[in-house]
Amino acid sequence: MADPKKLFIKTYGCQMNVYDSERMAEAMGADGYVLSDSAEDADMVLLNTCHIREKAGEKLYSDLGRLKKLKAARPDVKIGVAGCVAQAEGAEIMRRSPIVDLVVGPQSYHRLPEMARAGTPQVDTDFPLEDKFDLLPERKATRGPMAFLTVQEGCDKFCAFCVVPYTRGAEVSRDPQRILTEARGLVEKGVRDLTLLGQNVNAYHGDGWTLSKLIRELAKVDGLERIRYTTSHPNDMEDDLIAAHGDEPKLMPYLHLPVQSGSDRILKAMNRKHTAESYLRLIERIRAVRPDILLSSDFIVGFPGETDQDFEDTLSLIRAVNYGAAYSFKYSARPGTPAAEKPEIDGDVADARLQILQALITEQQRGLQQAMVGREVGVLYEKAGREAGQMIGKSDHLHAVFVNDPHGRVGEMVRVRILASSSNSLAGARISE
Ligand code: SAM
Ligand code: SF4
Repeated sequence: MADPKKLFIKTYGCQMNVYDSERMAEAMGADGYVLSDSAEDADMVLLNTCHIREKAGEKLYSDLGRLKKLKAARPDVKIGVAGCVAQAEGAEIMRRSPIVDLVVGPQSYHRLPEMARAGTPQVDTDFPLEDKFDLLPERKATRGPMAFLTVQEGCDKFCAFCVVPYTRGAEVSRDPQRILTEARGLVEKGVRDLTLLGQNVNAYHGDGWTLSKLIRELAKVDGLERIRYTTSHPNDMEDDLIAAHGDEPKLMPYLHLPVQSGSDRILKAMNRKHTAESYLRLIERIRAVRPDILLSSDFIVGFPGETDQDFEDTLSLIRAVNYGAAYSFKYSARPGTPAAEKPEIDGDVADARLQILQALITEQQRGLQQAMVGREVGVLYEKAGREAGQMIGKSDHLHAVFVNDPHGRVGEMVRVRILASSSNSLAGARISE
């Protein structure tokens, strides 16, 4: 039998891209490809790109520059570009980098195998009528007991800074029965902790179901122990979803709820359609039903027109919430978005603000991690650690936890007493049953 062909995938950006890369690997698997760890010995190299900030987009071209040598040495190696830069730039990518053989957008990647088989350059950035999820092969291997499952794609919110509504298209929810089938399949393959994904996941409305109904039905799947979801918009946190945080034990006490800014003036200019006050009231309602919930957010600093006072308002909001984690970014003007028309603020001022904000978040994160010391938590073992007998897992609050447990198994859910907190992880001892 001939050796299988090798596929190397590099994934940039968000968790939805991680999920898409897994599905593309499965689709190519049906055509005889196996995954490879390096581009050098691969028959096909696929770059699954991100367009959210300028730097993310630039990475594609620096990687393509590096791949030139490989293509010159082995012209039969296929080079593919997928993801949001593929969607935004289409055939332009091939003009800038002639080594590229195919360009495929996030809605068309079920066509990847036939595009790879074609002997001519291929571009597909359509939003096809058919649903790619119906046409992709069944889920295969998973990476350990945690998995992502995309339930919703696209976004209709049009925040003034964001390319997602243009690259991922209008908001679409997947059919709930198909999601349940995919989830059951993953659980049969050993998944215990499932994160439901969507650019605007809490706006989920597949077949008239809300996200909370989907979560409650998933919670009935035997063997599935934990459910999470990301990313949510504050305006779609409906009462039924908040209630689920209070009474659905499998819904984990971790919520990523981006606010972007604490200044009402900036939130208005961002077209976020919520205020700092409405966000804080929402957090109060969520904490009323789940006091130990760990909150995380996204922040943009240096949005056009942001003053020192606006930035102070953001710091005040952060102090009021006390976050367990956050992603923070310097504003990056994206072509085609309304905010890109506005004059940018001084880059050095934005850099300085980003550092201040990140230092505050780090302080809060460490404080909340330190507060776990002495507590008993649930841990799902993900992999063996570097030291003999050591297991590494995730707590309910998504903290990384190191446990000395020579008999521990990957995929096992255990109770652990937290003994120490370091910069970005916890250490604990297994509590014997
Ligand atoms: N749907 C999510 C929401 O409502 O927050 C986020 C989706 S986006 C992929 C992830 C994060 O990237 C955003 O929350 C925002 O903080 C950041 N982001 C988006 N556009 C940006 C831009 N032009 N410059 C800097 N950061 C940006
Ligand atoms: Fe982008 Fe999120 Fe705003 Fe949608 S809600 S436009 S994905 S930041």
